[in-house]
Amino acid sequence: MAERIVYLDHAATTPVDPRVLEAMLPYFSEHFGNPSSIYRLGRRSLEAIDTAREMLAEILGAHRNEIIFTSGGSEADNLAIKGVAYAQRQNGRGQHIVTSAVEHHAVLHAVEYLEQQGFEATIVPVDHYGRVSPESVRDALRPDTILVSVMYANNEVGTIQPIAEIGAICRERAIPFHTDAVQAIGALPINVNELNVDLLSLTAHKFYGPKGTGALYVRRGTPMLPQINGGGQERRRRAGTENVAGIVGLATAMRLAVEQQESSSAHCRRLRDKLIAGITATIPYVQLNGHPTERLPNNVNMLFEFIEGESILLLLDQQGICASSGSACTSGSLEASHVLTAMGIAPERAHGSLRLTVGRENTDAEIDQVLALLPSMVERLRSVSPQYKRFLAEQPAVNA
Ligand SMILES: *Cc1c(COP(=O)(O)O)cnc(C)c1O
Repeated sequence: MAERIVYLDHAATTPVDPRVLEAMLPYFSEHFGNPSSIYRLGRRSLEAIDTAREMLAEILGAHRNEIIFTSGGSEADNLAIKGVAYAQRQNGRGQHIVTSAVEHHAVLHAVEYLEQQGFEATIVPVDHYGRVSPESVRDALRPDTILVSVMYANNEVGTIQPIAEIGAICRERAIPFHTDAVQAIGALPINVNELNVDLLSLTAHKFYGPKGTGALYVRRGTPMLPQINGGGQERRRRAGTENVAGIVGLATAMRLAVEQQESSSAHCRRLRDKLIAGITATIPYVQLNGHPTERLPNNVNMLFEFIEGESILLLLDQQGICASSGSACTSGSLEASHVLTAMGIAPERAHGSLRLTVGRENTDAEIDQVLALLPSMVERLRSVSPQYKRFLAEQPAVNA
């Protein structure tokens, strides 16, 4: 019998919804034509892409010409950052970029790469909840600023940024504004005009779609150079034969995510709050990382003093429970999360963090199971923790 898995890592990826898989299947072996071919089999694929593009555009409040399909969130982020930066520099607009300290590595490392290419960057700090203040973005702007990129919601701690306000500041100065909205789809309002954004990244596998398919929204008139050169696909902005099945899956998953947004968010929020309340009530020396209210409905990120998050993960894994100690991209490395340290948490404390991200298929029974197991796991790890022993030794004797 297969091991029963309790999956609490939806910020890392999600299972493909059966309805999404069903919509994708005909595009592998049956309607397999190249969308660029002129015969009917090819046109059939092109129609599927057009329909998907229409659907995405409608959900985002955009025009279909403003949607570029990519291989995922990382490519969408790289296309937004590098594509706009190179176009702006070519137009003589300048070479200064503003972003935040808590961005996904797909943004931060793209900006660092551009710095090696002669661009300059200002990394705006965050407060101890992980929030970027619109004022600090305004203060960072210069006459030669060519792009601002601030994520919509953080993948590690779930903190939601004031995107519409930051966007309004950028618009006043006619500076293109990009947001990585990967974690927001299916959880937060996503209309690009209400958000005041010019570029927006998303990826299907974070909302029950397939891995390896994403999209970038680019507002008409935003200067951008392609980062993959070749054929004329995606209106010459992203070469390569389209991932037809993936694109169909992306659009189907996005439609379902938005349709179920209210019920799914309410369900997740309830399980999230149950986890936070349960952990706080049963385990001493814990704190919630991230904002208490301006937070994704599915994100729990707790800091356990005196222990390593990685060792809790191993104990949870032995029970079939999937969680994360930070972001999947940094796990396996010994460096503390750049998000937690940017929030002012010392590296040695940041290591004690555990991220549990719930999804629409999680049940109360699963949450109860985790809440029943965690206290003894933490106690076990603390009992062998030198920091904990030192801490106890330093405590003044308590009168009973
Ligand atoms: C997952 C994630 C990405 C990367 O998306 P991929 O499709 O895995 O490349 C980018 N940004 C955020 C905030 C993410 O959570």
